[in-house]
Amino acid sequence: MASSTSEFLITARWIVPVVPEGLVLKNHALVIKESIIKDLLPVTLAKEQYPNATAVDLPQHMLTAGLVNTHGHAAMSLLRGYADDRELMDWLSNHIWPVEMKLVDYDFVKDGSTLAVAEMISTGTTCAADTYFFPEAVAEAFTENKFRGQVATPIIQFPNAWAENEGQHIQKGLEFGDSIKDNDLISTAFAPHSPYTVTDKALEQVRIHTEALSLPVHLHLHETLDEVEGAVAKTGKRPIQRMHELGLISESLQTVHMTQLIEQDFELLADKGVHLAHCPESNMKLASGFCPIEMLKKNGVNVAVGTDGAASNNNLDMLEETRSAALLSKAVSADATSVNAFEALSMATINGARLLGLDSKIGSLQKGKQADIIAVDLSGINFQPIHHPVSQLIYTTSGHQVSHTWIGGELLYANNQLTQLDEPRLRAVVEEWRQKIEKVS
Ligand SMILES: [Zn+2]
Repeated sequence: MASSTSEFLITARWIVPVVPEGLVLKNHALVIKESIIKDLLPVTLAKEQYPNATAVDLPQHMLTAGLVNTHGHAAMSLLRGYADDRELMDWLSNHIWPVEMKLVDYDFVKDGSTLAVAEMISTGTTCAADTYFFPEAVAEAFTENKFRGQVATPIIQFPNAWAENEGQHIQKGLEFGDSIKDNDLISTAFAPHSPYTVTDKALEQVRIHTEALSLPVHLHLHETLDEVEGAVAKTGKRPIQRMHELGLISESLQTVHMTQLIEQDFELLADKGVHLAHCPESNMKLASGFCPIEMLKKNGVNVAVGTDGAASNNNLDMLEETRSAALLSKAVSADATSVNAFEALSMATINGARLLGLDSKIGSLQKGKQADIIAVDLSGINFQPIHHPVSQLIYTTSGHQVSHTWIGGELLYANNQLTQLDEPRLRAVVEEWRQKIEKVS
């Protein structure tokens, strides 16, 4: 059997490939060649067939697919814990937007996004969907640190440091899309902020451009009851209806939140193939409401998980978020069988990849896919005994148990240490930003 030194093996006590759902392999190995998963087979066979390959042996660990965070604002990690315990519009209008007006620039976004990347890599996220001003700074932070992501162009009617008006946001978004088209790690989308901050005229433009360029649309939708009632009072229409009339309810749409749904929405969303980035902790923290994901799933809507920004969470820990999603769905649907552990893991991985249109490339440990892999250390006394490793992963661990993270075969986190990102420098930069934020507050 051919074997070359460019291949390496990762052996582990358990490998959970995600697809097919429910499969747990014991004492298996992944064979990685360059950025790709070349094979998945029992350890004994792997050592026979690939005698020259170097091996990373993880006897107490589970390997699974890298987690896909489907909604966030990475740069807002600099505002983690800045204005907690407030309702959404007070939080945004009186705290977040004023400080953003004063401080957000290219460097703020680059440094904040780097902080988020450090946290995501060290807690097992290997791909994230991001929406924020200066997407070129987000893309730079991701690319420099070999992190994968969908970096969307924000569109909002208020002037800000990045763009003056909706038209300029769209123009800059087109230029940004052009600039990343040869970047293997970065894809893009248009992200109108929400129905209440974007005009019909801009949304029509978004539909025309995204259809022409086959790009997704990423949109906060039906986040709160106020949003829906406000829209009905103003226009006589619920935002979903307005988006539908504008032609935006389609399989290209990645909706975020959707805590306020009625019976007729389920069928429409399922029929059109809309995807959902479910952010349960942000919804709970801002008292936005509960997204009925069991009903959406039953109707065939693709449900994935997102953390939202660290300013409303307050972390980017996808394992913790996924546990919240599973527990909350049981509570909201009054059904303890809702979102079992395997379904929860699928929501955090392959469903996220599907939402991003990247499911042929990432989201599971299958031959030919990118080697986006995490190892979770289950040796701690608090994880014993291990009857069902995937139950342990979802209901007992958090991102702190992630010990290794590979993206495209590149080991970016090993034995609980970032291998490439300069953490001391990052800490110093973040402290400078803390002082600047304090000064303008
Ligand atoms: Zn958000």
